[in-house]
Amino acid sequence: MVKRAGKNNFQQYSPGMGLEAVDDLTLQHALTRAIDAGEISVAYQPVMDLASGRLHGLEALARWQYEGMDVAPDVFVPTAERIGRAGQLTALVLDQACSQMAVWNGLLGHRNLTVAVNISPAELADPTLPARVGATLHRHGVDGRQLTLEVTEAGLLGDRKSIHDVLATLRGLNVSLALDDFGTGYNTLAQLLTVQLDTVKIDRLFVQDIDRDPQRRAFLEAMFSLLSRLGVVTVAEGVERPEQIEVLRSMGCTMAQGFLLGRPYSGEDMTPLVVDIGAQTPPRPAPQRLDD
Ligand code: C2E
Ligand code: MG
Ligand code: MG
Ligand code: MG
Repeated sequence: MVKRAGKNNFQQYSPGMGLEAVDDLTLQHALTRAIDAGEISVAYQPVMDLASGRLHGLEALARWQYEGMDVAPDVFVPTAERIGRAGQLTALVLDQACSQMAVWNGLLGHRNLTVAVNISPAELADPTLPARVGATLHRHGVDGRQLTLEVTEAGLLGDRKSIHDVLATLRGLNVSLALDDFGTGYNTLAQLLTVQLDTVKIDRLFVQDIDRDPQRRAFLEAMFSLLSRLGVVTVAEGVERPEQIEVLRSMGCTMAQGFLLGRPYSGEDMTPLVVDIGAQTPPRPAPQRLDD
C-alpha cells in the first residue's frame, strides 16, 4: 500500500504519484485520526526582504506523515477541507507557529519577526476565525503584527459582508492578510483587490522564467509597480536561481521566498538561522486601516 523507494528512503506522496495505491477513504480516516490526535507538525521557510537582504519572517507549512511517509500538503489539505477538518488543521498549525514565535521572540529579544499561516478559503468568511486567532496570539504572547494569514483567491470570493467583518476584526488585532499563489487563478487583480490585502504572493509558476521571458517580466514589472503604489507588499514565491533575485530586486519586488534562500525546516532546525539573521529584523508597521 505504501511505496518505499529503498530502505530509509521515503518517497513523498504527491498528486498523481503513488497516491492511487492508498484509497481515499483510508487516507481520510488516517487524517481524521491524526488531526484529532494533533499529529500535524510545522515546517518553517524563510521570507527575505529583497532590499536589505534581511530575514523578514517565516511561512509555516503543515507536515503530516502517514505510515512513516511524508504526505504532501497539496494532498492532505484538500482532504482535510473535504472532511470538514480545515478549521482544526489551521488551529493546530497556528498554535504551533505562535508557540514557536514565542520561543524565537525570547531568543531574539524583540517581536519584529513575522510568521505566515495558510488558511483554507472558507475560513476567511467564518465569523469565529478572528476570536480563535486572537485567543491563540494571546495564549502565546505573540503580537498580532507578527501574524499574516495567507489565503488563495477562492478565499476572497466568498460572501462579501462576512469577509469584510472577519477582516475588520482581524485588523483590530493587527493581523495582516496575504493573497497566496497570485497568477494561478482566473480573476483579475482589480477584482481581487476589492478585498483589502496587505501582501500579494506571486506564484512560483510566474516567477520561474522571470529572467528569461521578457513578456512575463514586463507583466510582473507592471504588477509590482501597481501593487507598490497601493502600499501592498509583494513576495515572489519559489525563487530557485540567483538570476531571479537580481531581476526581482530591479523590478521593485519587496520580498522573496524559495529554495535558493532557504528550504522549509522544523522550528528547531530553523532556530540557528533565525537567531543569526533574525536579530536585525526591522519592526513591521501595523497594517493600514483604510476602509473599502
Ligand atoms: P504555499 O502556501 O504557496 O506554500 C509554498 C509551497 O511552495 C510550499 O510547499 C513550499 O515548500 C514550496 N516551495 C517554496 N519554495 C520553493 C522553491 O523554490 N521551489 C519549489 N519547487 N517549491 C517551493 P508545501 O509545503 O508542499 O505546501 C504546498 C501548499 O499546501 C501550500 O502552498 C499551501 O497552499 C498548502 N498548505 C501548506 N500548509 C498549509 C496549512 O497549514 N494550511 C493550509 N490551509 N494550507 C497549507
Ligand atoms: Mg502560503
Ligand atoms: Mg503560494
Ligand atoms: Mg499553494
